[in-house]
Amino acid sequence: MTRQGGDHIELDDDALKAVANGTRLRLVESLGEAVEGGGYGTRRFSELMTEVGLSDSGRMAYHLDKLRKQAYVERTDDGYRLTLRGLRIYQFVRSGVLSRSPEVGPFETDLLHEACGNPLSIRYENQRVCGICETCGVTVESVPVRPSSFDPDRLETLERAMQRQLWAENFTLTQGCCLHCGGTVETDFRSPHEDGGDGASVDGPQVLFVCNVCHWFHTAGVAYAGYLHPAVVAFCHERDLDIREHHLLDPPVDVPRPEVRSEDPWRVAVTYAYENDAITLTFDDDLTVHSVTTQQGGAASPQA
Ligand SMILES: [Zn+2]
Ligand SMILES: [Zn+2]
Repeated sequence: MTRQGGDHIELDDDALKAVANGTRLRLVESLGEAVEGGGYGTRRFSELMTEVGLSDSGRMAYHLDKLRKQAYVERTDDGYRLTLRGLRIYQFVRSGVLSRSPEVGPFETDLLHEACGNPLSIRYENQRVCGICETCGVTVESVPVRPSSFDPDRLETLERAMQRQLWAENFTLTQGCCLHCGGTVETDFRSPHEDGGDGASVDGPQVLFVCNVCHWFHTAGVAYAGYLHPAVVAFCHERDLDIREHHLLDPPVDVPRPEVRSEDPWRVAVTYAYENDAITLTFDDDLTVHSVTTQQGGAASPQA
């Protein structure tokens, strides 16, 4: 796999300074709010002055110039509009990452703690949704969710935001892409006995996903890599299941402990079972699937 470490990405002082200013951020916001109907919206100089509350047109021209020099904003026949780069700044601001995030919960969900069978509570703090088992006193999952993804006054939207985030991240990570920075993600297998103490892990070997650019990481059992594999999606679809409608932490298929067939090279067989049927995928440590086998009512039929 080619390493793409994002070495060509430079931190540019002037680019940061251009948006590190209240008036200019308000300009970006105003132009961002003009984006509608599937197109970049345009605002006139005078409209922008009113929007950001400036009465001095010289000051206004100065601020617009700063944004234009950094290619956040461009001039058109009708006025000013954001460039893609400017729209990215607007999106980042709107995502709430820069805001003080609300703290919400804990409140009980329908999700169950696999280890003890008691309901999980979820709580939002520090821009993460945490799944907590009050009975066992443990945090089962901690999922980064942007403050924009839910409505703090409607708690059910938080659980939905967590579910969407988990699937989106699953899809991009298994495609080798970082959801957060767009960098290349590499994978590495860890034996359950490698880190000592955790030899009895029910998940079998763990996959470590690491982004080469921003160093975002995620660890999961190998089964995680197969939930959205076309063969598993089709297996579910044939049984009237849409796996994406379920919570990734509580998928509609049973996943017994994966079978390690070889460690050098890695070959790990993961079975996804539903009622009397099952499908087994064999992964290597690049998450390439080497074989797919389905068992219907106990009889196996290899597909690849
Ligand atoms: Zn528990
Ligand atoms: Zn990244």
